[in-house]
Amino acid sequence: MQTNIPQSILDTPQGKEANDILRSCVHCGFCTATCPTYQELGDELDGPRGRIYLIKDMLEGGDVSEKTQLHLDKCLTCRACETTCPSGVEFAHLAEIGKAMVEAKVQRPFKQRLLRSVLLHVLPSRTLFSTFLGLGRLFRPFLPEKLKKKIPKSQKTAYFPKKEHLRKVLLIEGCVQPAMSPEIDVATAHVLDKLGIQTLRLLQAQCCGAVENHLNAKDAALKRVRLNIDLWMPYVELGVEAILSTASACALEIKEYAHLLKDDPEYAENAKIISAKAKDIVQVLADEDLSMFKLAEPKRIAFHAPCTLQHGQQLKGSVESLLMGLGYDLMPVQDAHLCCGSSGTYSILQPELSKALRNHKVKNLTAHNPELIATANIGCLHHMQAGLKTPVLHWTTLLKQGGEM
Ligand code: SF4
Ligand code: SF4
Repeated sequence: MQTNIPQSILDTPQGKEANDILRSCVHCGFCTATCPTYQELGDELDGPRGRIYLIKDMLEGGDVSEKTQLHLDKCLTCRACETTCPSGVEFAHLAEIGKAMVEAKVQRPFKQRLLRSVLLHVLPSRTLFSTFLGLGRLFRPFLPEKLKKKIPKSQKTAYFPKKEHLRKVLLIEGCVQPAMSPEIDVATAHVLDKLGIQTLRLLQAQCCGAVENHLNAKDAALKRVRLNIDLWMPYVELGVEAILSTASACALEIKEYAHLLKDDPEYAENAKIISAKAKDIVQVLADEDLSMFKLAEPKRIAFHAPCTLQHGQQLKGSVESLLMGLGYDLMPVQDAHLCCGSSGTYSILQPELSKALRNHKVKNLTAHNPELIATANIGCLHHMQAGLKTPVLHWTTLLKQGGEM
């Protein structure tokens, strides 16, 4: 694609990067076929190619309006388009630059600004989020049905294993997961313990930065990323095998640190080290002998592969083949490449589109009557559970159950 971006913009790191990405696009349109928002809305501007043109136009000095903002807001950053693209267009990085530019140029209405500000302050703060979730649970019986479904019931207290092992990993627990589903990380630590791997935890655990990035709050995101790097580097020096997350969205975000800080002379090197150490839990478990977690009887399940796992980290099929090897009978899922509509704060900011995507997803996941649905990301898990009676679990909790049989 030819571009005509002014030199003043090309001289900035973002301008140069955007220009390189735009020039790699051959506007073939293959990506539109796998874009969930294009499939749902049928408007070229709600598909990747249309969004690429919007960003190109904006960088070349064209008009930027609420309409531009809306088409970019509707993008889930699911990266299905990247998986499909034959030219290797890094759409997510381009979208990030485009969204930040619109954010700076178009002021949002007061209600939107307020909602975004609340999300920005509450979600990444474990204290605030736990407090609000606790209040939500307390007043659950009095809440409208729609809201009730969004508040998960509290889980029984579970404890991390205490045994020390020579092999160690650092677990990044993140912001919302410990309050919403603490059993996931506990189950994972027990699985690792049985494999002779010790799970180290941070005293000052906090968000990986994905929430701020989703809300286009770039400075806040980078500040958090730098703080995380400072907190995690001592563990790398201690020799941990991996910096691990059980939420595929967080694992992806940490793998992006190297890209996020590539122009920061002080942090670029350590960001690269942290990203190289980052692993999704499936990458750790896939290398281990998991025979002790094999099922005695096959179990009919469906697996929902989060976009952050299959498109973002390009680990398509990894959890599915691991589970099949352990005796799980995986039901076929139509349109498994499409997003469930959760995508960070998307389900709150674009509720109608998010719900429509979830309806398609749960219909396809339950088409063959599985006993349960397994997934690999906390956001997808609770988003889908709110629209389903079939239980939705993180796949590592299945492994722990299998190992206890
Ligand atoms: S598939 Fe790739 S090259 Fe083709 S239009 Fe989409 S982003 Fe551009
Ligand atoms: S990231 Fe997802 S929603 Fe956004 S343009 Fe690409 S396929 Fe469509």
